[in-house]
Amino acid sequence: MSEPKLMTPQHPLWRQFCERLGGPEGCAFHEDASEKIRWKCRGGNDHGAAFEILNTMPGVDVRGTLKWMRENGAGCDCEILFNLDCDSGTGSWSERGAR
Ligand SMILES: [Zn+2]
Repeated sequence: MSEPKLMTPQHPLWRQFCERLGGPEGCAFHEDASEKIRWKCRGGNDHGAAFEILNTMPGVDVRGTLKWMRENGAGCDCEILFNLDCDSGTGSWSERGAR
């Protein structure tokens, strides 16, 4: 038995969470025809994609995690990638776009 945990940069699945959030089931980062980076996000206070991804991951305190994200500068899905520690080692989302 383990307690549900917050999904933070200390969590072992954090990188996987970031990859999925930036991928097609989340913000879907990609370059358009003029090589501008585009992504999907409903903005505002919407953590819909993060919520759905977190719900598929075992042992995660989803509500607590979304609260923690808001308190740490991520008001919406894409701000999780921009403002939390999703970039280390792989370059920033806005630079690399989606694969
Ligand atoms: Zn956003």
